[in-house]
Amino acid sequence: MHANLPRTPGLIARVEPLTLTRAVRGPFDYRLRPEQADVGVGALLRVPFGSRKTLGIVLELATESELAPERLAEPDAVLPPGVPADLVELAGWIAREYCSTPARALTLVLPPGTAGGVKRKQVLVAELTGAGGDALDGGAPLTDRQRAALEALRRDGPTPAAALGTPTLRRLEGRGLVEVGSRVQTRRPASVAIGRRLDSPPELTSEQRVALDVVLGALTGAGGAGEGGRYLLHGVTGSGKTEVYLRAVEATLAAGRGAIVLVPEIALTPQTVGRFQARFGDVVAVLHSGLGQGERHDEWLRLRSGEARVCVGPRSAVFAPLAEIGLIVVDEEHDGSYKHEGDPRYDARTVALRRAEQHGAVVLAGSATPRPESAVALTRLRLPSRIDGRSLPAVEVLDMRGVHHPLHPRTRMALADVRSAGGKAIVLLNRRGWSNFLSCRGCGNVWMCPNCEVALVLHRASGQLSCHHCGHRRRAPSRCEECGSVAVARHGVGTESVEQELREAFGAELPVFRLDADAAAGKDRLPRTLAAFEAAHAGVLVGTQMVAKGHDFAEVALGVVLDADQTLRFPDFRAEERTFALVTQLAGRVGRGEEGGKVLVQTLAPAAESIEFAARHDSDGFLEQELRRRKVLGYPPHGSLIRIVCSAPEAPEALDVAARLHGLIAPSGQTVLGPAPLFRLRGRSRTQLVIKCTTRDAAVSAVGAAVDECAADAVRRGVNVSVDVDPQ
Ligand code: ADP
Ligand code: ZN
Ligand code: ZN
Repeated sequence: MHANLPRTPGLIARVEPLTLTRAVRGPFDYRLRPEQADVGVGALLRVPFGSRKTLGIVLELATESELAPERLAEPDAVLPPGVPADLVELAGWIAREYCSTPARALTLVLPPGTAGGVKRKQVLVAELTGAGGDALDGGAPLTDRQRAALEALRRDGPTPAAALGTPTLRRLEGRGLVEVGSRVQTRRPASVAIGRRLDSPPELTSEQRVALDVVLGALTGAGGAGEGGRYLLHGVTGSGKTEVYLRAVEATLAAGRGAIVLVPEIALTPQTVGRFQARFGDVVAVLHSGLGQGERHDEWLRLRSGEARVCVGPRSAVFAPLAEIGLIVVDEEHDGSYKHEGDPRYDARTVALRRAEQHGAVVLAGSATPRPESAVALTRLRLPSRIDGRSLPAVEVLDMRGVHHPLHPRTRMALADVRSAGGKAIVLLNRRGWSNFLSCRGCGNVWMCPNCEVALVLHRASGQLSCHHCGHRRRAPSRCEECGSVAVARHGVGTESVEQELREAFGAELPVFRLDADAAAGKDRLPRTLAAFEAAHAGVLVGTQMVAKGHDFAEVALGVVLDADQTLRFPDFRAEERTFALVTQLAGRVGRGEEGGKVLVQTLAPAAESIEFAARHDSDGFLEQELRRRKVLGYPPHGSLIRIVCSAPEAPEALDVAARLHGLIAPSGQTVLGPAPLFRLRGRSRTQLVIKCTTRDAAVSAVGAAVDECAADAVRRGVNVSVDVDPQ
């Protein structure tokens, strides 16, 4: 800027335009009009931007601009309610921490429905005036309909106009007998609660008491509130972790502050949500994607106004607009759904720590299978036993080498026992569909996705082959398109064929329920299947990892994991952690109730350590050994990873940009692995770089700078660059 140019004094707002292109980076100055003097940080404005209009968020206010007056535009409009200032700051942090842009990060914290123009719902309400009452008593001339309306208003009080006939009311309004005005109507989501409820809080066990006392100490602090603290509630499945969260929330409310409770996924954890609603009533707001835009918008406003002070929801609830946060709970903290898959690829667990720091709040993360990262970073509190001293189920590992049937003979026997005893069983197979892939016996042709380098999966119910990566579908073939042979072989099993298998073997006396993304298609299907299984006297629930989430079913006598080593076959340093968690979490659903229970783990790798540790319920042993392994390899928490994926219609373009990024990042002293090719996905060739770093902040800024530098070139060449800090 030239020093001689006149500067503009006055009220200046620094505005970040909400545009998604990386190339545009604010903030830009706008001059506020005198009547916009109450605009503050976080206000949402509609502003002229080049030749068009855009929405923008005020990042900062100033009294002077570097720019000359004629170069400064004025905002067209202020659009309440805007965003609280602490969330604007948090968005800035997310943009930096995850190598994204301020605009993209700000879209995470906007009131729901901002882009779609969702407004508060207004309804016309009529109310009787004094004159109206006199008219009724004094026998003024009234039609029958008018008289009926006035009497109804006297009897029922203010009433939505539509119920009484708006034209009638308008005429009465003209005579001063009623008042008609619009009122805001709050849209409230239906309660999601199902399952068992406790009417009154139970007496805490001594283990719960000890853990809670530590949290309460941090909440109230020695010298008052606001000390903060980070805790990991490491409790075996069924140890009563939720009750500890409930008590901690209760204390937070009593101290006049608010709480956020993060859960993996609402549809899969309705019981947890229900327990918070049952305990705290209307002070609980629920925010999740299953709600209508209007409901979400209004729940958001209830939190913003302080009417609701507890927010329960999945990862995005970490952005709940609470004024004073005292506690953030992260339930089932090991769950992968806390990581966001779109840009910014934030991790709600990490964001929770940051947000708690802003507010001096306590973080309480809980799991039976905590991540090694959390075990190191958080202060551990333990709940080593199940409520009522019930024991964890015995786990038996079944070697599947040489067994040519999806169910081991012992599994069939155990299921037959459940059938004759009239109990329940859960069968987990982390693969949807009927069979993994089809091949031609004549020529060896394998049916592949035209967009991705993966085989198509047969879904027999719909008669289709489908790609589990891009969603491509086609009709299942009856003959080979290459050689005409009708001998099409099916390989492997999925939840659909296991369901069929179970129905044929046991279905007459043991109803089979299936829970996976296919069976769950359609609103409310998931909670309904869960409720039906809960209500049944006997049955088998078969499904993907969904069946192992925090459900609290009584009377599940048997759990079965099919193909437990499947997760181990992924080339990923978290493979061990995932396998351990899957087996342990399934065991956690078993044997809650009077009867004990047992778990069978079918695997081709019976000696795998993660499976052995899970069979012994030894999560301490697993953590210790996993941390040792990661130290040797320099994986988190002993260092951080950043993954960059370049994708383009043609491989050379993606490779070029990746190589250029490599050249820009490596000189900063970071270890850069790659470029390494990935399988083609959604019609795009992909190549990746992995940065392994010990100084995370330096690596993040080196990557951010490199990506910014390449951004324009990449766009021109049709290359998409995506950065994932702490990839899953
Ligand atoms: P976790 O989340 O650790 O797996 P839950 O919170 O689901 O465990 O608790 C398991 C069961 O024990 C639930 O049905 C819960 O209502 C019950 N429960 C929790 N605490 C107590 C207690 N102190 N006394 C009696 N029952 C309890
Ligand atoms: Zn063929
Ligand atoms: Zn595909």
